[in-house]
Amino acid sequence: MKILVINCGSSSLKYQLIDMDNESVIAKGLCERIGIDGGHVEGKTSDGREYDLEINLPNHTVAFHKVKDALLEGDCKVIDSLDEITAIGHRVVQGGALYNQSVIVTPEVIRDIDKLSALAPLHNPAHIQGINACTEVFGNEKPQVVVFDNAFHSTMPKYVYSFAIPQELAKKHAVRKYGAHGTSHKYLVERYAEMKGISLEGTKIITCHLGNGSSITAVKDGKCMDTSMSLTPLDGLIMGTRSGSIDASAVTFLQEHEHWTPEETSEFLNKKSGLLGVSGFSSDMRDNIEARNNGDENAKLATDMLFYQIRKFIGAYTAAMNGVDAIIFAGGIGENSIPTREAVIKELGWLGIKLNEEANDCRGKEIKISTDDSAVEVWVIPTNEELAIARDTKRLVETL
Ligand code: AMP
Repeated sequence: MKILVINCGSSSLKYQLIDMDNESVIAKGLCERIGIDGGHVEGKTSDGREYDLEINLPNHTVAFHKVKDALLEGDCKVIDSLDEITAIGHRVVQGGALYNQSVIVTPEVIRDIDKLSALAPLHNPAHIQGINACTEVFGNEKPQVVVFDNAFHSTMPKYVYSFAIPQELAKKHAVRKYGAHGTSHKYLVERYAEMKGISLEGTKIITCHLGNGSSITAVKDGKCMDTSMSLTPLDGLIMGTRSGSIDASAVTFLQEHEHWTPEETSEFLNKKSGLLGVSGFSSDMRDNIEARNNGDENAKLATDMLFYQIRKFIGAYTAAMNGVDAIIFAGGIGENSIPTREAVIKELGWLGIKLNEEANDCRGKEIKISTDDSAVEVWVIPTNEELAIARDTKRLVETL
């Protein structure tokens, strides 16, 4: 069975065609600058063929036609007919409180995703465009599945996801913690259990998805208990360009004194803050670590903030779960940044954690980086959100 996984952003479309018989990627690629001048499509196949096109992409349907053409024709052809693709799985950022699991797309599901656009104005409308583009290319009969980014977090207790504001107003606007990166956090705990050959029942795991966007999740008995992102992916840790947690009064103070509109304030917190804002030159962790090593004080502050905040969340979530059995690192930083993992783990001695420095000296591979006598296991597990989406899609399609 072949599943096409689609991840649509407001101006981008990423795809992976996955062979579910052996869970391997057949082809993958990316359309950028959809609806903006200077469109670009690129992709590659698992046997090393590549394509790269500069082409105007006025909307997601045109972009999706390019993806279809790349799969069916030319140097990077991997299938003879669209019939070879059994179903399509879409990543959807915001399912609100309406969806706690993946579902088959129906007109009602599309209406719900649309209704929830107020909570994810950049993402949900783009997801609908992606679903509609797929329907146009594949027809109504091809099953499509949506996998919600926050579904895994739907098990958070009310006292965790509620904000301390009048509840009538919170309810009126559906304002609460939803979390994000759920597909990744779920994949990580399930992969851990699979590797260890254990059930998640009775386990306490902290998953650290650290990339351009970062979130940490407390997972008890395989269920999310708390997560660092909130109503939107702005909350929690310092990120590439996002501030992470910040006193709401600092936001209203800056808005008033800088005479910003709400849109300008949002742009400042989402696009100009984080590692970029503190270092003053880059949102990229590699650049910041390099500058830190060369004595740059601002880069040192930015990276120290991230190291400290990761430790603080691990400490808080250990308390939240009354213990921790395993900590998992993933995402571009979690999988690759040796100094980040070292800086975090070396300060967790109070938990009886011991770092295996030799094992930690690695990038992008599945490995235990704590010593055998460490009281808590620490792992690096490369995340695979596309595979998690394809698995859910396969599971649901098989029930049809
Ligand atoms: P992601 O959003 O998961 O793709 O992660 C992007 C982040 O991972 C960026 O901040 C990169 O600098 C960081 N990253 C990728 N490779 C490395 C590396 N070798 N060392 C440190 N950070 C890295």
